[in-house]
Amino acid sequence: MAVDPLIELRDVNKHFGTLHVLQDITLTVGRGEVVVVIGPSGSGKSTLCRAVNRLETIESGRIIIDGQDLPEEGKALAALRADVGMVFQSFNLFAHKTVLENVSLAPVKVRGRKREDADRRSRELLDRVGLADQAEKYPAQLSGGQQQRVAIARALAMEPKALLFDEPTSALDPEMINEVLEVMQQLARDGMTMVVVTHEMGFARSAANRVVFMADGRVVEDRTPEDFFTAPRSERAKDFLSKIL
Ligand code: ADP
Ligand code: MG
Repeated sequence: MAVDPLIELRDVNKHFGTLHVLQDITLTVGRGEVVVVIGPSGSGKSTLCRAVNRLETIESGRIIIDGQDLPEEGKALAALRADVGMVFQSFNLFAHKTVLENVSLAPVKVRGRKREDADRRSRELLDRVGLADQAEKYPAQLSGGQQQRVAIARALAMEPKALLFDEPTSALDPEMINEVLEVMQQLARDGMTMVVVTHEMGFARSAANRVVFMADGRVVEDRTPEDFFTAPRSERAKDFLSKIL
């Protein structure tokens, strides 16, 4: 078990109508840890990520971020939300703003940073994701892989304590997947706490401290990548791995 928990879920439950989409989910992500979440489509992975940012409400259980229960609403919720950045499959960049403006916007509006400070920091982050020379462009002028790297820079600009990635490479053409995974690998090496929903098993093997396998709204396995990939315990995981590997 992680000694210094940053994200904790305790007995979290949620339904969509009669569908029990999160069933007694208990999960701890330690500071600096990379947890890869895998599982069949519809198993609740996206809902889990969204619940951590309270984009979805939960019915019971607790979600604790850096020692604080996730508040219902208001300023405290906004602050905790800003602590946990999210990167989605669809990049959701603002089409009518430049790359630089996309990255600087939230630090100015939400964190109250000065524009010039935010821009300077944003340029550093764009450099970090390999896009220093694209700052004045508009999203439509970039490839999908570049847009997703902008989305990562934008998330980093809020100085989050953790980042959640929900299938960040699933919408990308194959030749662009690696440039995004490499940025994520580097973040992992730099000690960023990350929860990554992905089908990229190479990334899971090389970057994850733990693999969480979900099926039907439950955490079925929560183990090291070596253990999980070499000796999955559950039939569900064996079946899943036989289909994707
Ligand atoms: P995954 O990301 O693992 O594919 P999701 O968390 O997106 O799974 O979805 C889990 C289940 O919940 C699926 O059956 C999905 O159809 C259902 N679901 C997701 N969002 C909603 C919603 N807003 N309303 C109703 N059902 C939903
Ligand atoms: Mg999903």
